[in-house]
Formats: sequence, C-alpha cells, structure tokens
Amino acid sequence: MKEKNGLYIHIPYCEHKCFYCDFSSYTGREDTVHAYIDACLKESEKYEGVPIDTIYIGGGTPSFIDEKEILRLLKGIGDIFDVDPFSEVSIECNPNSVDPDKLNCYRDAGINRLSIGLQTTDDEMLKRIGRIHSFSDFERAVDASVRAGFSNISADLMYALPWQTVLDVRKDVERILNFPLKHISAYELRLERGTPLYGQPQPDDDTDREMFDVILEGLRTAGFERYEISNFALPGYWSKHNYKYWELCGYVGIGAAAHSFMEGKRYANTANLDEYIKKNLGGGSAMVYCEDSDRTEEEIMLSLRTTKGLNMSHVGLESTNGFIIKMVDNGLAVTRDGYLILTDRGMDIHNSIVVALLEELGI
Ligand code: SF4
Repeated sequence: MKEKNGLYIHIPYCEHKCFYCDFSSYTGREDTVHAYIDACLKESEKYEGVPIDTIYIGGGTPSFIDEKEILRLLKGIGDIFDVDPFSEVSIECNPNSVDPDKLNCYRDAGINRLSIGLQTTDDEMLKRIGRIHSFSDFERAVDASVRAGFSNISADLMYALPWQTVLDVRKDVERILNFPLKHISAYELRLERGTPLYGQPQPDDDTDREMFDVILEGLRTAGFERYEISNFALPGYWSKHNYKYWELCGYVGIGAAAHSFMEGKRYANTANLDEYIKKNLGGGSAMVYCEDSDRTEEEIMLSLRTTKGLNMSHVGLESTNGFIIKMVDNGLAVTRDGYLILTDRGMDIHNSIVVALLEELGI
C-alpha cells in the first residue's frame, strides 16, 4: 500500500509574543487572517488528490484566530487532498484562547486531537516567560475539551526555565498528572539570541538533568511511555503526525515558514506573512527548494530519537560491530531485532552518539 503523507499547516498568529519565542509568528496582524487562509488554500491546490492521513495545525497559536477560519481551512483541505477518513487531525491551542463554542466547532470540523501549550503550572513563572495564560485557564481548557468530546489531549511542558527549581518541576509533574491527558511533550527551554529572555541564568547541566529525571520518573510511574526523546504517551497515543518526521515519511507543509519533505527533497516557504499571501494569491509560489535529504544521516539522527530505534541494516551496521558493542556495554544502547535503541542515558547524549556513529560509518 502506498504510504500516505502528513500535512502540516502553519498559522502564524499570536495574541502576544512570549519572551523566549523565536518561532515564526506575528502579533497585531489579525486583519490578514482571511487572506492568509485563502492563500493557504491556494497553495494547497498544488497537491490536489495527494493522499494524507495526518493533519497538524500548528503555529503560532491556531486557536487564537476565529474558529470559522479553521473550519473553512479544513473544509477546503478536505476538498483538495485525498484525506483518509481515519486521519489524526491535531490543532495547537493556547489555554486562554479556547472556549466551548470554539471546541465544538473544532470537533465538528473533524479535529480529533488537541495539543495544549501549558509550559508550567506556576502562574508567576508563566508571567515571567511572557505567557498570557494562567494555570486555571489550562484547567478550564482541559475541562471544556473533555466536555466537547475530545479524548486525545496532549499538553506541552517546558523545563530549565530561568528561575525554575527542581521542586517547581516536581510540582508541575504532580499537577499535570491530575488531568486526563494522553500525551505529554516535555521540552528543555533553550534561549535563543534576540529573544527578550536571552542571557537570563538557566539551571546548570546537573540541575537540568535532575529536572528531566523528575519528569521521566513521574510520567513513567503514571503509565506514560517515553517514545521519543521529548515525547511521552499512554499506550496507543503516540503522535502519528510527528512520528512521520522521525520516520522520514513524506509531508506537505502549507503556510508561511512551513517546510515540506517530498520524494527525498526538502522545501521551505517564505516566513514573511505578506510575501506568502501576495505570492500565493497572485498565482505564484512562496516555496523554495532547500536540499536533497541525506537519507542515511537523517535516518540515524531521527530514528535514534525514538524508542523504535535505528534499523541497523539500513545503514550497513551489525550488532557485532565494535562500536555498537561498546555502546551496549556502556549502557548507552540496546539492540533488539536488528534495531539499535538508545537507553535513557544514551538519549541524554543523543547528539554526541550521532556524531560518533556518523564518524564510524565514514559519513
Ligand atoms: S504562543 Fe508559541 S508561537 Fe506564539 S509567541 Fe508564544 S511561543 Fe511563540
């Protein structure tokens, strides 16, 4: 059976810019939303009949824009692409920008998975990092989501925030586990140059590790499986869309700053909102070719992020290889059914292992 693609749609609007954000998102440009959705649909027309079985509406803050625009977008996508009726359809939400009407509209539009950006349960910390929601907004958002019939709900947590302690992280984990979540992503905050928080002191490496260990232990005890370096899910709730990235499956990216991966080639759309709208509505394209994928390198890097691991035969490795034996002996990896799988300790140093493995393979 021919592999189906994923579809990512970028909604680059936010109510407020978080102090650590270096994503492509705009504030105060809501006047362009209608034209932007038109431009997304215009761009989609290039993919008429392409089979897809996951849709991910990310941002920015997709839940910030009028839900009728999301409805219009999904209806148009359904008319253009060949959408599998059992597709996983996710949308990213900010806790303070969803309400029962919006959630009912999402459900009726075919959305069946919500990804809610909590980040931390500490209101003071949320303010300091420039988030505009509170923990009680998150409580309300999850409650309203469940009432609207959503059972597949994910939440994002961040750790290594400036001023954060291990105790704070422990509190976050304890609190978040009181919610009916099926999936949790836990990201280490990396402050990028040019963002307002850049330069603020963050936890040192040992504290950072301790924070992640608290998350790992808490979530595992509650039955969550770590299926990727930063992602945890209850059985059966891995993100199908994100898994396509790690398995090098094809995906189409629609919208400003969106990336696509098709037939081994990578493409990117302009991140400039006005240019994106103008080019697509003018009948042109805002997409540029980036590079041919180096399949072996990417497969090593991406598959070792997951607990499925690297299919060693794909890269000409065997479990009797000295390098592999050394990794296993050092507790950094295990081999199973021809796959090389990093342990928690191995995942801690994922980048160094990838570099060493590429060197071993002469890549
Ligand atoms: S909500 Fe997300 S995309 Fe928007 S400003 Fe905050 S971090 Fe950036």
